[in-house]
Amino acid sequence: MKKFSRFIGLLFLISFLFSCNTYNIRIEKALQSIQAQDIKQHDSILASDAFMGRKPFTKGEGKTIHYLKNAFEKLGLKPANHGSYFQDVPMVELKANPSKKMKIVTKNGPLNLRYLDEYVATTRRMVEKVEVKHSPMVFVGYGIVAPEYHWNDYKNLDVKGKTVIMLVNDPGYVLHDTTLFKGKTMTYYGRWTYKYEEAARQGAKGVVVIHETGPAGYPWTVLRNGAQNASLLLRAKDKNLSRCAFEGWVTTDAARKLFAKAGLDYNKLSAAALKPDFQAVPLNTTVSLEINSQLRYDTSHNVMAMLPGGERADECVIYTAHWDHFGIGPKINGDSIYNGGDDNGYPLACLLETAKAFSKLDFKPKRTIVFLAVTAEEEGLLGSEYYVTHPVFPLNKTVADINYELFIPMGKMKDVTITGYGQSDLDDEVKTLAKAQGRYVVEEPHPENGMYFRSDHFSFAKYGVPSLFCKGWTESATKGKAWTAAHVNDYWKHHYHQPSDEYHSTDDAAGLVQDTRLFVRLGLNLAQQKDFPNWKPGSEFKARRDKMMQEVH
Ligand SMILES: [Zn+2]
Repeated sequence: MKKFSRFIGLLFLISFLFSCNTYNIRIEKALQSIQAQDIKQHDSILASDAFMGRKPFTKGEGKTIHYLKNAFEKLGLKPANHGSYFQDVPMVELKANPSKKMKIVTKNGPLNLRYLDEYVATTRRMVEKVEVKHSPMVFVGYGIVAPEYHWNDYKNLDVKGKTVIMLVNDPGYVLHDTTLFKGKTMTYYGRWTYKYEEAARQGAKGVVVIHETGPAGYPWTVLRNGAQNASLLLRAKDKNLSRCAFEGWVTTDAARKLFAKAGLDYNKLSAAALKPDFQAVPLNTTVSLEINSQLRYDTSHNVMAMLPGGERADECVIYTAHWDHFGIGPKINGDSIYNGGDDNGYPLACLLETAKAFSKLDFKPKRTIVFLAVTAEEEGLLGSEYYVTHPVFPLNKTVADINYELFIPMGKMKDVTITGYGQSDLDDEVKTLAKAQGRYVVEEPHPENGMYFRSDHFSFAKYGVPSLFCKGWTESATKGKAWTAAHVNDYWKHHYHQPSDEYHSTDDAAGLVQDTRLFVRLGLNLAQQKDFPNWKPGSEFKARRDKMMQEVH
């Protein structure tokens, strides 16, 4: 009897290993369909001049979204938005013209801040005019409410109708203290977008962030230039009247002048703001300003296809890549077409290759796989934000988002660099898969710059869905780390968001093949398992995920 059961056990083991093996062979076959020449072929078209830089609302949009739809259709993938490959994304183009001066009245007399030199401001309110008259100003430290860090800059405070002014980034960054927030890694609380959102939740009339180059991650000129462009916004039912009437920045010098005029010590108050017991301080000062806006309404599109799941089709794994770029703009070195070869032509190509690999599987993954090419990432992650606020699959049934962003072809890579390393359980899966490819996982080296908040995976994170942003970025297999760093640096300096970010027939896309295969393995693993990965303890997104997962499935 004992011998017999041992024999049965052995038989099970053999058949198990055999089926594992055949399972692996079947996946390997699909993975082999991902080829460098096919990735390059897609990029050579998507980043060609004929696609005119893929700007939303232009002919370039029409070409791009039809190219993607046709590619998905050809692979036999189903439309993912209730029978359609497209999701309408209604937007508004808003050109804000703020008053030349921000007028401040202190108990020691008036102070006018000059537009562009000392202050910038815009509004998200979709109305032709916003007017702020004598709104009392309050210094709210960092303007953060973070329960998981036991931090609340708005405690014992009512800011309704008032204008809040605050420091950029978070206290952990400033002190480089790892016991405060996440040390020098910027948390979402450090990002200006969060600060604006929180001020609106608190009912403030206006919100002003004090700019500092180091903690902001960019110089004043970036804000100055950005302020003069029209911005795209998602159309909102309430016309964004729930947002502050104005959202702005002032230079550090302007802030110092303002505090001095109000009879307050800027250094002392900024230092006090680094402590959790900080109490907001009224400046006994008022601010007035006016913004006249021109509005234009139009609709752009996300493109989405799916491979319906075989067992739990109501649950899904999402792959994202933004399809948009800057279109035709100011000439640089005689070229005016912003082709976006690496940003985001190659990632889009890899999204299509991912879709191809899944379509080659001879079995159905248990969960549904969604391929989502989003619009208007360059304008502030709008397409992905629209999707997560209008999801086709409920977010508590969305297992994860795997995002493709800015792939530079640098040949085979030894690393997988994760931006936002340590945020979620997905990192552990990536580690295992990278190892199987003979690669290692490394943390993106400048988490203080907040790159984590600047691509579409973040829209998913913000709404609680675990998401991943990674790629080979640190060590070329043949040229080493120094060459890779220099190459990436050269890209940031000379090609990023410039017409010279183009496709080249000499590009070596072998590293993109590695990344894409890893992404397919990851998505497939997630599709086959029953679990839902989560954010790690301490992540600012965990509370939201925990809450939605408790809701009835
Ligand atoms: Zn991009």
